[in-house]
Amino acid sequence: MKRTGQCFCGGVKYEISGRIYGARSCHCSRCRKAFGAQASSYALIEPDALVWIQGQDLLTTYPAGGALAKQFCRICGSTLCGVVDGKIHGITLGCLDEDQGIQIEAHIFVGSKAAWEVMPDSVPQFDAFPPDWGNAQEN
Ligand SMILES: [Zn+2]
Ligand SMILES: [Zn+2]
Repeated sequence: MKRTGQCFCGGVKYEISGRIYGARSCHCSRCRKAFGAQASSYALIEPDALVWIQGQDLLTTYPAGGALAKQFCRICGSTLCGVVDGKIHGITLGCLDEDQGIQIEAHIFVGSKAAWEVMPDSVPQFDAFPPDWGNAQEN
């Protein structure tokens, strides 16, 4: 199955083949700043599964030299993907065009969520990473 995604202004577009998995929402203070929201919405993809079909030159990477960075459109600011050691690691769920069949599996770092965020009781919540993810998993 191929899925497509794009940023808010439509300048950057991509196509993904392969599975999208490990969907998570991270409520840590870093993700709040990075996404300008109560949490991130992010999922992993397989290596080399994402192909930019338009606007790759509009992408900016921050932090530029970091092990874990995000790439966003420099026109509209949408964050499209996460990059680990220069390779695309996952995508933001908000920029996907077709979101059928994906569900957030874990709300992580709920232990450091914003005081103003009220978590619904019905979602799977973890104070940090879920125990079976290990500590190396990027958030
Ligand atoms: Zn854009
Ligand atoms: Zn986070």
